[in-house]
Amino acid sequence: MLNIPTALLQLAHETEAELQPIFSKLNEISIFNHQKVLAAFTQNRISEYHLKGSTGYGYDDLGREAIEACFAAIFRADKALVRNQIVSGTHAIALCLFGVLRPGDHLLSVTGDPYDTLHEVIGLPQAVPGSLADWGVDFDSVPLSEQGLPSFPLIAEAMRPNTKMIYIQRSRGYAWRPSININQISAIIDLVKEVNPNVVVFVDNCYGELVEKQEPTEVGADLVAGSLIKNLGGGLAPTGGYVVGRADLVDAAANRWTAPGIGAAVGATFNFNAAFLQGLYLAPKTVSEAVKGAVFASGLLNKLGFETSPATTEPRTDLIQAVKLNSPEAMIAFCRGLQKASPIDGHVRPEPGDMPGYDDQVIMAGGTFTQGATMEMSADGPIRPPYIIYFQGGLSYEYIKIGLLSAISEIPLHMSDNIM
Ligand SMILES: *Cc1c(COP(=O)(O)O)cnc(C)c1O
Repeated sequence: MLNIPTALLQLAHETEAELQPIFSKLNEISIFNHQKVLAAFTQNRISEYHLKGSTGYGYDDLGREAIEACFAAIFRADKALVRNQIVSGTHAIALCLFGVLRPGDHLLSVTGDPYDTLHEVIGLPQAVPGSLADWGVDFDSVPLSEQGLPSFPLIAEAMRPNTKMIYIQRSRGYAWRPSININQISAIIDLVKEVNPNVVVFVDNCYGELVEKQEPTEVGADLVAGSLIKNLGGGLAPTGGYVVGRADLVDAAANRWTAPGIGAAVGATFNFNAAFLQGLYLAPKTVSEAVKGAVFASGLLNKLGFETSPATTEPRTDLIQAVKLNSPEAMIAFCRGLQKASPIDGHVRPEPGDMPGYDDQVIMAGGTFTQGATMEMSADGPIRPPYIIYFQGGLSYEYIKIGLLSAISEIPLHMSDNIM
C-alpha cells in the first residue's frame, strides 16, 4: 500500500465534502453526454458485425462507417473521418490545414500561438520544408488579452480579404491561461462570420471533447480535429485521430489523408473498430472522472497553499489542471509520487531531462497502457519559475485521487507545512 499521511487523508476528505456541489454539476454534464453518445449508437444501429475490421484497401468497412456516423452524430455535424492511421492530434490538425488551405491563403489564429507541435506544421519560426509557410500560406496570430481572453477588436482588425481559415485552440495547452470555452468559441465564430461569412472556422478540440454539453460544431465551427488517445478514445483506443465537420471540408482533409480520388473510401481497420466503439461508449465517463480529478487536485492543492489554474470553482472546458508548485524540488517530488501510483512503470523514478524544443529541463510522470496517452493520468512541466506542473487525465476518480495523494505526500514537508 502507498504510505499516505493520515492528516493528508483527512484534508482530502474535507476537500471532497466541500466539492460536492461542483461534483453534482459535473454529474449532470456527464449524464447528458452519456445520453448523447448512447443516442449516436442506437440511431446508427450499432451491431455486433460493426466490431469486426477489414484488411488491405479496407473498402466497404461497415464498422468504420458506423464509427464515423456516430462521431458525426455526437458533434451534430455532416461528416467525420475517424481513423487508426491518423497517428496523433497534430496529424489530424495538419490534415485540416493542408486539406483546406492553398498558396496565397491566410491562416489566422485567434487564440495566440498554437500548441507547440503545430509550429513546424505552420512554419514557425521559419518555413521548414513541407510546412504551410513553405507552400505559400501566410500565418498570423492574434494574442490573447492580459486576462487570457480572446481580443475581439484585434481579431476583426487582423482578418484580411484572403483570410481563408480562422484557427481556435480550445484547451490551454501548456500555458498558464484560461482555456477557451464553448460560449467564447461561439462569440468568436459570430464575430468572424460577420466579417466574412465564407471564412472556415477550425477548432483544435484536443482535451476538450465531452467536457461541456456542446461541441464546437454545435455553435458554428466548420471543422474540428482531435486525438483518440485523448478524450474520445475513452482510454481504450490504442491510437488514432478524428476530423469532423462540414462534408466538403472533411472530404478535403480525407483527400489529404490518402489521395484525391480515394479519400475516405479506403483504410483498413484491422481490429481497431471494437476498441474505438467501446472507447467512445466509455468516453463520457472517463472524461467526467478526469474532470472531477482535476477539480479535486485544485481543491486539495489550494488547501495546501498552492495556486491553481483553472481555479477550483471555475467551469471547465478541458482536462488540464495547472498548479504552481513554487520549487523544482516540489515538481520533481510530485512527479515521483504520481509515478509510484501508476499501473505501468510504477517502479520507475522520473528524472528531469532535456527535451527538444525546450530551453529548460522537463520532468514528467505517466505510467500508461497506451504510450504517451496523457489522458490516462500524467503530470509534466518544464523546470523553471514559477514551477508549474500540468496535471491531466486519469481513467477513474479513485485512481486519480490515489495518484494525487501519493504525489502530494512526496512533496518535502517544509514545502507544505499544512500536511502534518
Ligand atoms: C495534445 C494536443 C495537441 C497535439 O496532439 P498530439 O496527439 O500530441 O500530436 C494539439 N493541441 C492541443 C491543445 C493538445 O492538447
